[in-house]
Amino acid sequence: MNPIDIIIKKRDGETLSAEELQFLISGYVRDSIPDYQIAAFLMAVYFRGMMPAEIATLTRIMRDSGTVLDLSDIPGFKIDKHSTGGVGDKVSLILAPLVAAAGLVVPMISGRSLAHTGGTLDKLEAIPGFRTNLSIPEIKSLLKKIGVALVGQTADLAPADKKIYALRDATGTVHAIPLITASILSKKMAEGIDALVLDVKAGNGAIFETKEKAQELARMLVATASQFNLKTVAIITSMEQPLGNAIGNWLETREAIETLRGNGPADLLEVTLTLGGQMLVMGGVAANLDFGKKILQQKIDDGSGFEKFLEIVKAQGGDPAVIEYPEKYPSAKFAFEIKSPMAGFISEIHCREIGKISMALGAGRSAVKDGVDYTSGIMLHKKVGERVKADEVMAVAYANKKERFEDSKIRLQNAFKISDSQVKPPALIQRILGSTE
Ligand code: URA
Repeated sequence: MNPIDIIIKKRDGETLSAEELQFLISGYVRDSIPDYQIAAFLMAVYFRGMMPAEIATLTRIMRDSGTVLDLSDIPGFKIDKHSTGGVGDKVSLILAPLVAAAGLVVPMISGRSLAHTGGTLDKLEAIPGFRTNLSIPEIKSLLKKIGVALVGQTADLAPADKKIYALRDATGTVHAIPLITASILSKKMAEGIDALVLDVKAGNGAIFETKEKAQELARMLVATASQFNLKTVAIITSMEQPLGNAIGNWLETREAIETLRGNGPADLLEVTLTLGGQMLVMGGVAANLDFGKKILQQKIDDGSGFEKFLEIVKAQGGDPAVIEYPEKYPSAKFAFEIKSPMAGFISEIHCREIGKISMALGAGRSAVKDGVDYTSGIMLHKKVGERVKADEVMAVAYANKKERFEDSKIRLQNAFKISDSQVKPPALIQRILGSTE
């Protein structure tokens, strides 16, 4: 077989066989096929697409490029959640302990910040000592002991996805539904889970801006997962403005702690309870979504969700004092207030731009190997639909280097739009798609 023939076949819109896909992907993982040929293949897929059977085959090959966890010796229903990525999305930090406190097993494998979106691993690593690079035996031991592990993708879990994702990021081929589907499902299926809930974001801070495109992705994810008998539900949630008020690693971790203590922002709580409630329904703990949400709210009210988070932090080497006394965590060296130029109502907070500004303030990385600054970011004091007075603070930007504010100030000011009349924020939960839809 020859990679060039396979690239040409896809370039011309033909369907590739399992053998051809296997040849390309395993050749790439083994380094016998170079980046430039896989980049050409990815671009061909971007323009020509893939048939559903091809997507399922690609998913299987990528899943089997490494170890598939066998969790059969761990009692309980194993379930995970995946988000397609957003701004201020700290849901995993709240949802994983809540769902584990409700009795399900949550082997959660997360990623790092990418482009304008933050990453769960960076938020967790803002906790001094917290280890996310656990080995497979360590992950299994945590699942047995406390029913949850919050970790990064190990080198042997879906290595094809790790390599291909980095190449997609560098070649403008992230936004292809077949590639996103295979990427998400291959790594999630490698976790050895019984079911999966997908948070497919729609809006200007999401991978896809329109609801139609997000729905197309959600349908493909659910349809592909069902071919592997993986119970999957996709929930389309709005990403037209950041989720919650905090954007930036430690700022988000602190907001997650506040939410687990019952003081979280309403939008963040609603998305968390909906995704988590759906997990409880799929795991047989709740008869319906409303009941699932109620159970999780109880886990917040009785403190068991917070206690579970503390347990995770201790078990993964983190400093529990930071969770118990988050106010003692050092702040960024510099802060800058963004004030409203006029009285009115917030009609828009440009989500993608807020994500990019937070990254520019130091919260993100420009290259995979870069570190992140944990205390920089943005706290929103106003959200869409809220009234604002002239000269009232709309947001505070935090950074550890003064020069980071240079163009961030004006960009942050411009990310807010103010109108005379009140605007309703878009519905947070837009659609729930199960395998029958
Ligand atoms: N998240 C993933 O894990 N993969 C993608 O391709 C897009 C979002």
